[in-house]
Amino acid sequence: MDATITRHGFDEVMVPNYAPSQIIPVRGSGSRVWDQSGKEYIDFAGGIAVNALGHCHTELVNALKAQGEQLWHLSNVWTNEPAIRLARQLCAATFAEQVYFANSGAEANEAAFKLARKYAKDHYSAEKTEIIAFNNAFHGRTLFTVSVGGQEKYCRGFEPLPGDITHLPFNDLASIEYQISDRTCAVVVEPIQGEAGILPAEPIFLEGLRALCDKHNALLIFDEIQTGMGRTGDLFAYQGTKVTPDILTSAKALGCGVPIGAMLTTKIIAESFSVATHGSTYGGNPLACAVASRALELINDPTLLAGVKQRHQTFMSGLQQLNSKIGLFSDIRGQGLLIGCELKPAWQGKARELLTFAQEQGLMILIAGPDVIRLAPSLIIPYPDINKGLQQLAQAMLALKMGY
Ligand SMILES: *Cc1c(COP(=O)(O)O)cnc(C)c1O
Repeated sequence: MDATITRHGFDEVMVPNYAPSQIIPVRGSGSRVWDQSGKEYIDFAGGIAVNALGHCHTELVNALKAQGEQLWHLSNVWTNEPAIRLARQLCAATFAEQVYFANSGAEANEAAFKLARKYAKDHYSAEKTEIIAFNNAFHGRTLFTVSVGGQEKYCRGFEPLPGDITHLPFNDLASIEYQISDRTCAVVVEPIQGEAGILPAEPIFLEGLRALCDKHNALLIFDEIQTGMGRTGDLFAYQGTKVTPDILTSAKALGCGVPIGAMLTTKIIAESFSVATHGSTYGGNPLACAVASRALELINDPTLLAGVKQRHQTFMSGLQQLNSKIGLFSDIRGQGLLIGCELKPAWQGKARELLTFAQEQGLMILIAGPDVIRLAPSLIIPYPDINKGLQQLAQAMLALKMGY
């Protein structure tokens, strides 16, 4: 522990766009984390749906070390082995034929939205520029991605914003049918809206989007930055539906903690990014790709994915049991290990308070908006850790209920 590093230090030298909690975690192993004082936490947060194989998974540490002693960075002027290996794996595991690598989710989406606009111009007309997105959606924090996202508060103050973006209600096919036209170049959707409160898209909604996009030659983009890499129990959530997107974006669990994002698409669409139309210095760097490659090998495994669905059942029955006694939640929902618990009207706005109580108990959870707690643990969290964490959550729920 470095005693010179304190929470107060954050306020001194960090731009105040975050308000981190009081504890300072310094070490993690599997689904456990320790703070500066040595206090132990069960991790139901997984970073923020990032550490899909827990903290410091031996295989990932080995991949990082091996690549770390071999080659860290090359300009995209040269070809590197780990990037091609990872791209091949992603193509073999999905609908995709080609991959673009970035360093984050926002950058993967930025590439997707630029590509959709360019593809529409290349193949149809200069007027085909409208992007349809959904209320409360989250697609990242660059100016383009935050504008496509459906939370006005994240855009406020940054105007003028990129234009020709239409926001419509989620899971409401009729409004899309009314709005979409041959001027629409893309529809972008999260298979489960994450930041908005863990709201799953209805299968019929996704199927309807696919049909409407086909009818109007618009690209269907799935933002799977949070739902991908095994989170729902399928490698990508679309694989548990009847719908295949034209472009899919991945990040968060793709690197299991090393920064990397990817945009997956077909060859014909990819062609609209010809040489020098888009790029990134760090995108596809050997270090991140080597770790992601090992992570994908480990996650794209039928036994591991089946384990996600089994753990889902353990969480759901455990949470329902707690709630039948304590009664704070009006809804417990989600897929795989992306679970949201919505607070009843009497407790709305108190998700952050519940997070703080959980932390006092030794449990890390997340929130998704003011009224929903979000659980996104490691996909291989041990069952004893699930049970211990649920007991701690019960204590936190009681603390919130009793008002202390
Ligand atoms: C986290 C997230 C992003 C943004 O990813 P960053 O790596 O923070 O840029 C975009 N879309 C969804 C659905 C996300 O959950």
